[in-house]
Amino acid sequence: MLQLKAQGRSLVATLPSQSHLIRRQVPLAPFTSFRVGGTADLYSEPRSFDELSECIRWAGSEYLPVTILGSGSNLLISDAGLRGLVVSTRFLKKSVFDEDLGQVTVSAGTPLPALSRRLARRGWQGFEWAVGIPGTLGGAVVMNAGAHGGCMADRLISAKVLGPEGLELWTPEQLQYSYRMSSLQASAYVVVDATLQLLPGANPEQVMQETNAALRQRKSSQPYDRPSCGSVFRNPSPHSAGWLIEQSGLKGYQIGNAQIAHRHANFILNCGGARAQDIFDLIHHVQGEIADRWSLMLHPEVKMLGEFQGS
Ligand SMILES: Cc1cc2nc3c(=O)[nH]c(=O)nc-3n(C[C@H](O)[C@H](O)[C@H](O)COP(=O)(O)OP(=O)(O)OC[C@H]3O[C@@H](n4cnc5c(N)ncnc54)[C@H](O)[C@@H]3O)c2cc1C
Repeated sequence: MLQLKAQGRSLVATLPSQSHLIRRQVPLAPFTSFRVGGTADLYSEPRSFDELSECIRWAGSEYLPVTILGSGSNLLISDAGLRGLVVSTRFLKKSVFDEDLGQVTVSAGTPLPALSRRLARRGWQGFEWAVGIPGTLGGAVVMNAGAHGGCMADRLISAKVLGPEGLELWTPEQLQYSYRMSSLQASAYVVVDATLQLLPGANPEQVMQETNAALRQRKSSQPYDRPSCGSVFRNPSPHSAGWLIEQSGLKGYQIGNAQIAHRHANFILNCGGARAQDIFDLIHHVQGEIADRWSLMLHPEVKMLGEFQGS
């Protein structure tokens, strides 16, 4: 039995394994692309599926809320941090290729850019669009991540998820995919891995070129030099969120050290030392301005976790 460790002292409970630690009061900002947010009461980085399920089971037995963290590239974590247990998938990175079927089964913590390049080098098409998305496979399954006309819903055959009843294999129908949405959002299920269908047999050099072109296109139109979460709002129709924000004269608008990007109005940048509350307030300011001017509500794509003033 392993005592939970906090600075060498034992903590509230025991875990039935020697294989990993649960740490206390871990700063979360370094694990998010915004580089903001407070600490996790408890934090774990399981190295295997068994460790992952052990953490989840233990948290359940202690009635602790659980938050799953991928790359933190679509998260705004409050300055007050998160209660309960935060479980990072960043060490769960296995890929198993089925050459005959052109399928790959990928663990939740696998970074999308690395996977995209790996597939391109094999001459497998269909994942070029993912090269510039700084998330994990698990986060992408949950968010139905996409770019350049492609998205997870196009490629996903099934997702293995861990729920209250154990492991389940979910089909795209069960995931109820729509634009940046899935039924996994706001659920208690954890994506363990997913199987994707690709298109093998192409010239690897050509697929690499298309992959590099996708990355160049993003870097020419989006600000990558400062911490952000990518697009803050879902795109309404017929105009994009960026277009509406730009037309409202909000580019460059700043609260504290959080600023609407000049380069792409649907990006909020941490210009250095921003608080999560600054970003939260800026999101609300934009929503208010757009509602007044265009009579429509912009819905955040970014997941806001923890407590904010005025929420
Ligand atoms: C510069 C930049 C550019 C971006 N461009 C794009 C883009 O072009 N297209 C796009 O779609 N997105 C884009 N994003 C947003 C983001 O990268 C995606 O939403 C990505 O899919 C999030 O993955 P993640 O691993 O970082 O998830 P996180 O941000 O860590 O988590 C997102 C949500 O998923 C949950 N989650 C994560 N992993 C799991 C899991 N294994 N099981 C259950 N729940 C889980 C979290 O609890 C949270 O609710 C961009 C972000 C940045 C910073």
